[in-house]
Amino acid sequence: MSYAPILAIVIIVILITLFILLLRKDRVDELRTKLIEDALWVEQNLFFQLRTHEENVERLAQEISKGQDPDVLLTRLQHVKDIHPELQIISWFDVQRDEPLTLPRGYNAQSPTNPLPRFKSWFPARKDDQLNEVLVDFQAPIFGANNQPTGLLRTSLSLNQLLTSQIPWWVAGQYEIVLVDNNSDRVIARRVNTALKTSELSYSMSVDPPLHGVRLQLKPYTSGSTSTQTLLIIVIVGLAIFAIISLLVQYYYARKRQQAEQALLDEQNFRRAMENSMTTGMRARDLNGRILYVNPAFCQLVGWKADEIIGLSPPMPWWPPDMVNETLDRHYQQNRMPTAQSFETRFQHRDGSILDIQVHEAPLINNQGRHMGWMGSIIDISSRKAQEERTSQQAEQLQKTAHLMSMGEVASTLAHELNQPLSAVASYAAGCLNLLEDGETISHDDLRSGLESLAAQNRRAGEIVRRTNDFVRKRDPLLKLEELRPIILDSLSFIHNELLKHKVRTTLDLPEANLYVMADRIMIEQVLFNLLRNALEALKNQPMDQRKIDINVQTRGQHALIAVSDQGPGVAADMVPLLFQPFSTNKTNGMGIGLNICRSIIELHRGTLWYETPATHGATFVFTLPLAKHD
Ligand code: ADP
Repeated sequence: MSYAPILAIVIIVILITLFILLLRKDRVDELRTKLIEDALWVEQNLFFQLRTHEENVERLAQEISKGQDPDVLLTRLQHVKDIHPELQIISWFDVQRDEPLTLPRGYNAQSPTNPLPRFKSWFPARKDDQLNEVLVDFQAPIFGANNQPTGLLRTSLSLNQLLTSQIPWWVAGQYEIVLVDNNSDRVIARRVNTALKTSELSYSMSVDPPLHGVRLQLKPYTSGSTSTQTLLIIVIVGLAIFAIISLLVQYYYARKRQQAEQALLDEQNFRRAMENSMTTGMRARDLNGRILYVNPAFCQLVGWKADEIIGLSPPMPWWPPDMVNETLDRHYQQNRMPTAQSFETRFQHRDGSILDIQVHEAPLINNQGRHMGWMGSIIDISSRKAQEERTSQQAEQLQKTAHLMSMGEVASTLAHELNQPLSAVASYAAGCLNLLEDGETISHDDLRSGLESLAAQNRRAGEIVRRTNDFVRKRDPLLKLEELRPIILDSLSFIHNELLKHKVRTTLDLPEANLYVMADRIMIEQVLFNLLRNALEALKNQPMDQRKIDINVQTRGQHALIAVSDQGPGVAADMVPLLFQPFSTNKTNGMGIGLNICRSIIELHRGTLWYETPATHGATFVFTLPLAKHD
């Protein structure tokens, strides 16, 4: 913000004020000079008038002395009085007459002193009660033949009239002119215009002689120019203050505006930065589907530039040709129900590639609360979808592998198991044949018993094959009411040989009452088989006395709780959270998917499978199955 204009205004105001003050001072000096000049002029004028009057009166007195006819003289006196309005009274005293001759007639003039004066003289101003005027008297002696005073001529001048008649109007218009008595300081005559005001200036000078103890005083009238100037200064200063205040206000608002603009700019930049860095595509469209706004992520997604996109109306170039109708339908549908919605669709990139897209759309509401279109966020979910696809394929593959693995295990178990009944069948058959070949009478019973045993072993072998077949065959789960005990025993029998081989003892702790569950028998057997096999593997390298697996079955509420515990090394703490995740194994030949599959199977049966660290050592895997009623 620049203060230069304010400074300029202040300087201008100071200069103008100085100028006016200088002007005023000049004017005062000028006025004073003029006042003195005019005062001198007035004084001179008065002086001259009074001297002229003096001469006139002396001349008249001389003329009287020479024996002028009194009537003619009176006429002359009257004439003099008429042309000099200030001349109020004329008195002629003569020793020959008792009464003086006076104009105006009947004026009671004061008698002259005795003896009569020989010299002319002026008297101090006096208040005359008869005429009610301040008068000043002048008298001149009249001499007789022997040069003795025989009378005198006295005139009385009105000082007010003197000022009125002897001071021209152009002077009187400029000054208040007064005569002041020096003794009493009282104004005794004045020429004043009361309508005008006087200034502080004044000038006075003595008019003595001829007027005893009187001074003339002039005061110029104010022209009004000083007050105009003061007013002017006040107005200028006021205007300057106003200008400064309005400038400051302007500055204040300009600054505010600047700040607001800066904030707006920052905000815009921030938004732009946000927009540009956003990985989610944003798109706004009006109710007709016309594009109002897209962000850079959207442009990148579809391969068109923002200025190519904005203003486009459906069908959009990124709609796959086979989806145009479907997309249009959805647009119309959406407008009918303006609520936020989310859907999946497909976009075709400009380069022709197809993208899987997740769209979240919300109604675009303007300031007046009117629904004016839609604001959508667009996410490319192609890679997620592909990943999902891959994972599901992988899981399927895994299932198959697991199954094959189990099959491998089962096959070896089968071989072991079949070995026994088959060799028994062979030996029973050989025994029976021997009996026949010996030629001895063989009892029916012996033969029957031999053949029965043979048939039994055969059945056993058949049973083993059937069970293995069931186990290996891939099929959908089939939940049936099953008793728990035979399932556990069957599972144990699968791994029986292995257990024997590694001298692992097993205990089975089951409640007295038969427990029934709704289960796919083969699947539960698969779970138990897995848990037993893991336990067995954990025990292989353990000391003989610790090679023990405990199977414990309990009921808890509406569930059967089956726990498989071993005395092995247990599961390392860092392995525990990973146990049920696929491919988490610490075995060289392990796949790490067994437990994962087991958990899926148990959850399919609405049960749960978890790992427990036993108080001592080893590992315990527990699963629950909802109990079923058997009637
Ligand atoms: P795999 O047996 O192929 O490794 P599993 O999912 O069945 O796959 O087991 C995952 C891992 O859990 C095993 O590698 C092993 O480290 C651990 N594990 C499972 N059961 C036990 C057990 N009873 N004792 C110790 N570790 C076990």
